[in-house]
Order: sequence, then structure tokens, then C-alpha cells
Amino acid sequence: MLKRLTMKKSKHAFKKAKKFIPGGVNSPARAFSAVDMEPIFIERGEGAYLYDIDGNKYLDYVNSWGPMILGYNPPEVKEKLSLQLEKGTSFGAPTEIETEIAELITDFYPAVDKVRMVNSGTEATMSAIRLARGFTNRDKIIKLEGCYHGHGDSLLVDAGSGIATLGIKGSPGVTKNTALETIVVPYNDRLSIKKVFEKFSDQIAAVILEPITGNMGVIDPGKDYLDFLREITRENGSLLIFDEVMTGFRIARGGAQELYDIKPDLSAFGKIIGGGMPVGAYAGKKEIMDYVAPDGPVYQAGTLSGNPMAMQAGLATLKELKDKKVYAELESKGAKLEAGIKNNIEKLQFPAVFHRVGSMFTLFFSELEVKNYQDVKNCDLELFAAYFKEMINSGIYMPPSQFEANFISRAISEQDIETTIDKNYEVLKHLKSK
Ligand code: PMP
Repeated sequence: MLKRLTMKKSKHAFKKAKKFIPGGVNSPARAFSAVDMEPIFIERGEGAYLYDIDGNKYLDYVNSWGPMILGYNPPEVKEKLSLQLEKGTSFGAPTEIETEIAELITDFYPAVDKVRMVNSGTEATMSAIRLARGFTNRDKIIKLEGCYHGHGDSLLVDAGSGIATLGIKGSPGVTKNTALETIVVPYNDRLSIKKVFEKFSDQIAAVILEPITGNMGVIDPGKDYLDFLREITRENGSLLIFDEVMTGFRIARGGAQELYDIKPDLSAFGKIIGGGMPVGAYAGKKEIMDYVAPDGPVYQAGTLSGNPMAMQAGLATLKELKDKKVYAELESKGAKLEAGIKNNIEKLQFPAVFHRVGSMFTLFFSELEVKNYQDVKNCDLELFAAYFKEMINSGIYMPPSQFEANFISRAISEQDIETTIDKNYEVLKHLKSK
């Protein structure tokens, strides 16, 4: 066994939290149940580091599950939030900043003419689906196995992230009829989706997917597959929805659609777009977005949508990302980490596969290729849990599940990357000797 951190105060805080909050957490992905641990309670974050209430310091690869691409507490965001705090935190009336951020998003995303702000990624995909159904006047949607699109009823079927971590297929409370309108096909597989279109060609409103997945770990299906989806949806009069809640502004400024030069009909955003505040958005071509109320008949609204504090944090973050050098830097750090970890795996002959796209990565505990949800389910989840436990005790904070992506922030230094590679080697070596 390697060293063990003291987590006494977290233990106590969790015990109390469980009394008043279901499972002690406000989102299941935060519970460390899959790795047989208890969650760590955080005191503060600064740059690339998190500090827990016991005083432990962690190098962080969770980034609040993606949003903190600039690291924790970046001065650019802090300054704008302080200024807005003086003016007021919510008005429920338009502000100019909402237009400014929407315009900037249309600059980054050529497939986007108009943007509607919401408060979470869940709302973004839920609203995009409703819009797709309203616009096409069709009911069914195709979802890809292992992709997670938030907890909206239509999308909570064979999903990734917490649903996969907990090993459940769907959720009680989602009616059978709702689930029946969602057709699930395996990721990265053309034949099954072709068959669905043959059977229901004029009934499919949309295909929704993570164009590069994070919620079953990082899997990149490549441009050909995404081109195929673009084509088959167009041929059948269905919309293609890219859920870029995680990949948007992350793997490239313009997300997977920039990386692979594909124009989806609708896009869902979240995480980075709010710079650490609760924000989501759905966006697309003018003719489709004009179908949303008050211009069009599809209703969607929000008391706190476009909230000025959230918009300030989002805009300040996106302005930092105007400079594409940020992505070159993230790519170089990611490449260094990838080379180091792959070298460790090879030196130790460890049964693991490393996937990375830009600043998103996953180490899969598998001897075989990982191309879809089934492959991830076949990974050695016990070995993952053992790895997680040792890494966190070495001061490296990672998502507590094999079905998740790790994120590199701008705040991570070259030295931090080297430390991670060294710790990874130590831990893999220790696990190998067991
Ligand atoms: N879509 C994707 C691709 C996501 O990764 C997530 C969250 N991890 C969501 C949707 C849901 O976003 P939120 O948790 O903000 O509701």
C-alpha cells in the first residue's frame, strides 16, 4: 500500500450531509461509491489545485467536470463577477451581455446563427430535443448507447456517466411511453442506425450524440462516422444534434464540429460556456431557432436564464479562449501526458489503454480496444477503483469512475504533468506487484 491521506473532517461532513441530502451529495456522480470511498469535501480551489477541508492539496483533473478550463478562480473571471456583484445578481430582464456572449458563440461556431441560454446541460439537450420534435413534427429520437445528455426523461435511457457508474439502465419515474420514443443504438456502429432509419424513416425527429464521448470515458469515433451520421440524418429529414456540453470550447474552440468540420443542425452547450456558473445553451441555424417562443411555437423559458452573474463568468472565460494559443498549449500538455502514461503502460506491460483528444483523456483498464459502451463495461472496474484510490492518496484528484473523462486545465504546469506521470508509474507498478 502507498501512503494514505487523512480525511477525517470529510468523513464527518459526509455523515452529516447524508442526514439532510439524498446520498449526501447533490449529484450522484460526486459520490465515490463506485470506488468504495466516501466523497472528499472541498474547501477551495486555486489554479490547478483543490484543497479539502482536512487541508489536503490535490492536483485536479476533474475541473468541476469540465467547466474550469482556465483552472480554479481565474483572475479574469473573478474580476467580472465582482463588478457584476456591485450592479446586482439577477433582473429577469434583458442585458446587453447576453447578446455579446451569443454573438461570440456564433463567431466560434459556423453552424450557429442563434443561441438560447438555459441553466444547465440537461435543460440544453431537453430543449434541443423538444425543438427538434416541434420543428420536424416527428416524435422519435435516436440516442447512442453510453452517451449521457443530462437527466431529461427522453434521454435517460442506456446513458453514460452516473447512470453507467451505478450500473443502471434507466430510471423509475420515466414513463414507458417516453422511453419508447427513444431508440438506442450502439455507438460507433453504422449498421444498427441504418436499420432503424429503414424501419422508421419518416418518424425520427433527431439523432443526438456526444460527437466525442466523455461520459463513457473518452471515445473518438472519427470523422467518417460523424460524416455518415450527417448524411443519413439529412437523407431522412431528421436533425443531427451534437451534444457539445463537454466537448464544446474544450477539444477545440469550436468543439468537435470544428475539429471534424461538420455542421450539426442543433448544438447543446454547457460547462465551459458558464465559466463555473450554472449555464447551458442550445443553438443552431436561424430557421430552426426561430421556431422557439416567442418567435415560434415551441415553448421554453427560464426565470434565471441568461443570469448576469453567469453570463459574466461565461463571457470572461470565452474571451480568454478567443486566443487559439490556449488550445495549442493544452494540446502540448495533453501530448506530454499521453506519451508519459503510454510509456509507463508499456514499461510495466500493464493491461490498459489510454485515449486522449486535446485536453480530455481516459485511462481504460482493458487489454482490448475500447470503441463503445460494451467495451467500457468490460473494463476491469475493480482495478480502476484500486488505481483511483492510490492516485487520490498520492494527491491526484480524478473522476471516481471508469465511465468519465479527465480534463486538463490551462493552469496545469509542465511540472504538474511530470508529477502525474511519475505518480501514475508508481501506482501502476504497485498494482502490478499485488
Ligand atoms: N451532456 C453532456 C455531454 C454532459 O457531459 C452533461 C453533464 N456531464 C450533460 C449533458 C448534462 O449537463 P448538466 O449536468 O449541466 O445538466
